[in-house]
Amino acid sequence: MRAFLMALMTAVSAPAWCGEDILAVLQRSQQMQLDALSDAAVAADHPAAQVVQRSFDQVSIAMGMAQPVRLVVVRGPLLAVCLMGRVVAANVSLADLSESERRFVLAHELGHIAHGHWSQLGELYKRHIPGEVVKEHTDAIAGVLGREASQLSHEQEYEADAFALRLLRRMGDPDDTPLVLFQHLPLVKATATHPGTHQRVAHLRTLR
Ligand SMILES: [Zn+2]
Repeated sequence: MRAFLMALMTAVSAPAWCGEDILAVLQRSQQMQLDALSDAAVAADHPAAQVVQRSFDQVSIAMGMAQPVRLVVVRGPLLAVCLMGRVVAANVSLADLSESERRFVLAHELGHIAHGHWSQLGELYKRHIPGEVVKEHTDAIAGVLGREASQLSHEQEYEADAFALRLLRRMGDPDDTPLVLFQHLPLVKATATHPGTHQRVAHLRTLR
């Protein structure tokens, strides 16, 4: 979910894309991200990839995921991301985490899909940019759109965390799983799209 503001900036600086609406631009941006991640994909029969896939399947079944969601296990700096509301890319290093921590990361990403976050954000963009992506128009609304998209993205992160915690409880995993997980991950500050570690931990504590 990190690419939205970047997608807007790309749209603004890419006249070749004029004539497309903002949803097509967002889709294209995420497809490019997926293509890059697919180049870093780990073979499906790699033992660590199989560990991640198994947890992913368990979480999908537990949440009764109705639509098909593809998992791509990758190497690189990314921990996990949900793309276009139908693909989850997850780092092969998730195999080194405990089963419940791995489930939390994957359940968080699947929570974005269960809550329809991709289309929510698309609707927000479409409200601000209803027609063709035209530089003069996007320049004029970039500030307010950026603020609203950032606020919505943060809300979606909290919602995905809450979804994942509820699901883990149903699966019988320890209640402190996400708190232990965040201790194992690097401390991060808030960005335009994501709350920082402290904010996410504080929010998770309110759900206990
Ligand atoms: Zn997220």
